[in-house]
Amino acid sequence: MDFVNVIVDISHEKVDRIFQYRIPDHLKGRLKAGMQVNIPFGRGNRLVKGCVVGFAEKPDYPPEKIKELDSIAEGSVQAESQLIALAAWMRERYGSTMNQALKTVLPVKQKTRQKQSRRLIRKISVEEGVSLLEEYQRKKYRAKARLLEALLQNEVLDYQETVGNLKISSTVVRGFEEEGIIRMESRTLYRNPFADHFTKKEKEVLLNSEQTEAVEGIWSEYQKGVRRTYLLHGVTGSGKTEVYMELIARVIREGKQTILLIPEIALTFQTVMRFYERFGERVSVIHSRLSGGERYDQFMRAQNGEIDVMIGPRSALFTPFSCIGMIIIDEEHESSYKSETVPRYHAVEAARFRAGMCGASVVLGSATPSVDSYYRARSGRYGFYRLTGRFGNAGLPNVSIIDLRRELKEGNRSIFSRRLKEAMEKRLQCGQQTMLFLNRRGLSGFVSCRSCGTAIRCPHCDVALSLHNDGKLRCHYCGYETGMPSLCPSCGSRYISGFRAGTQQIEREVKKLFPYARVLRMDYDTTRTKESYEQILTAFGKGEADILVGTQMIVKGHDFPNVTLVGVLAADISLYAADYRSSERTFQLLTQAAGRAGRGQKTGEAVIQTYVPDHYSIRAAARQDYEEFYRQEILYRKMMGYPPAAFMLGIYLSGPEETFLEKQADRLGKVIHRLHAEGLTVIGPAVAALSRKKDMYRMVIYLKHMDENMLLNVKNQLERILENETVWQKIYIQFDYNPLNAY
Ligand code: ADP
Ligand code: ZN
Ligand code: ZN
Repeated sequence: MDFVNVIVDISHEKVDRIFQYRIPDHLKGRLKAGMQVNIPFGRGNRLVKGCVVGFAEKPDYPPEKIKELDSIAEGSVQAESQLIALAAWMRERYGSTMNQALKTVLPVKQKTRQKQSRRLIRKISVEEGVSLLEEYQRKKYRAKARLLEALLQNEVLDYQETVGNLKISSTVVRGFEEEGIIRMESRTLYRNPFADHFTKKEKEVLLNSEQTEAVEGIWSEYQKGVRRTYLLHGVTGSGKTEVYMELIARVIREGKQTILLIPEIALTFQTVMRFYERFGERVSVIHSRLSGGERYDQFMRAQNGEIDVMIGPRSALFTPFSCIGMIIIDEEHESSYKSETVPRYHAVEAARFRAGMCGASVVLGSATPSVDSYYRARSGRYGFYRLTGRFGNAGLPNVSIIDLRRELKEGNRSIFSRRLKEAMEKRLQCGQQTMLFLNRRGLSGFVSCRSCGTAIRCPHCDVALSLHNDGKLRCHYCGYETGMPSLCPSCGSRYISGFRAGTQQIEREVKKLFPYARVLRMDYDTTRTKESYEQILTAFGKGEADILVGTQMIVKGHDFPNVTLVGVLAADISLYAADYRSSERTFQLLTQAAGRAGRGQKTGEAVIQTYVPDHYSIRAAARQDYEEFYRQEILYRKMMGYPPAAFMLGIYLSGPEETFLEKQADRLGKVIHRLHAEGLTVIGPAVAALSRKKDMYRMVIYLKHMDENMLLNVKNQLERILENETVWQKIYIQFDYNPLNAY
């Protein structure tokens, strides 16, 4: 590479521009993204600091206009410039402005300045003070006398308290300072929201052989200088967290830092405690309940070297550590790792890029890895370790699949199968708890047959069609539409509709069946605030209810040792989400849901009700058999050309006028065709899954390509076109690289 792209020090220049420089021969091969360099800038060619964000083989400007880079800046702080380089990468990959990307990665300075603790320290001796005090009293300088008196009692005073309690103006204090009676000392107080909660414990854990194999395998490569990504596949309770902690301890011994990402919902007090107990105050945690100021403080503590480990959700990835040794992502399959605002980055990809800049390894852990990560692990691109057993007495639950078609045929039209009803009854009798899980992930509005279980799917995309208000069924990938059939196309039954029961209805039905049961409900309606979410879980944990009814929110987080039954009411709903990941999500949700039963000493039972008992994601989840699920799913992805077998780019269009938006979407479709990108598949334009939101109409176009770089290239060309033609500026267009959720 002969040319380097540089962003000029952001404190004093416009950041949205990237400047290109020629690399002098002696620096070729020595520059890396995230490095700080000195570059000649402006008319006078004064040397300023810049940050390397990328490279180019060929110049983007006439070569005679390109200046030569001067040198690598010595002794510079790398954290910020690596974050800037990360922002530049995110801008390029996910499509956003540089400003949006920088706002995402750089700690936001709070308007309210950090808390400063200021102290007044007496400089004069007690004798001097006493005689001065007499003078003040003689001259009736009341305020001065009060302050001096206080200083004679205490050599050091807190500024706030002095000004407040003694009612002394800041002018008086300043006067004392000027006269040399006191000196002022200020130091920044970083808010540490957890400071009071922990004690460090020395607890010896002897890793078992699988854990040891993972730790030693990863660590021996680390010590040889190999930096790569690893997947750690192990069911919940198999000891992944212990593996993380051992790796973190070793990274700390090397004098380096670790970032550990955990989905917000799993960031429970118990988890955090384990880390505090092991690493003491060298750990910090950020989560969404922290104020902006507290969050900023934690980032500053990281920057100042006060901590070694940062734990938090997605945004903790941007902790300004200077020397990261490892980035660990727990539950890596969680969709909360994907940002749903621009830039729509995925934390796993962004972590890999950041790790590349700072020479860190990445460890991904999950009980149900994303198909994407598993694919890479299987193909050898990721290192791969497995933990197969569970710790303690906890065994896997007994899972049964109930065929709801048969229930209907045999005259049971209740939302509870006979098996589930019986099992609930038994739990009520012996004082154990039940969780009823309504799988509402994905959008309702799909149509399926209650007699044979068939859902109506798009003939082109093999995803479920959605029923719209005008009575038509539509595909949200390609726009295919058809009328609503009155009979099931595959078996002729009249019982064709979606599963419409909500959590409220289930709660009512439970109360009807078991009037004496104490029922709690947890769904979007009952958890508007964060506290209510915690309250419900805590109450259930304390045994204040027999049955908890809820959506996917109840599947994660807390452990309830007294829950011995989990009922999944309609396992298939998430199968009909109108996107290609619906089977993957179904498998993950069901595996997690079933895994909730029997966490304590007692063996658990799970009952999965479904209209499609033979679907591989349901069968595999019942057996907690990831391999089996993966084998089928990857075939489907390959056949249909969905990620990870291909790369996908969502283009989301929205605007206030429906017809204009449709016209623009069509026009954009034509623009894409005119690029003549070889091997590119264009799907749509089509109405988005959520066709209107806040009075904005929404449409989508999806692009697929086997070659990632070709796809990114198309995105870049489109970005340039969209920027330069004013006609596009009347609608809002976003890119979504490898989208996780339907738009
Ligand atoms: P995961 O992170 O995979 O859910 P954890 O690391 O939380 O699993 O382990 C589950 C339980 O087993 C925890 O209570 C943990 O302390 C315990 N545990 C894990 N590994 C060991 C070990 N090697 N020796 C003793 N206890 C262990
Ligand atoms: Zn049918
Ligand atoms: Zn389609």
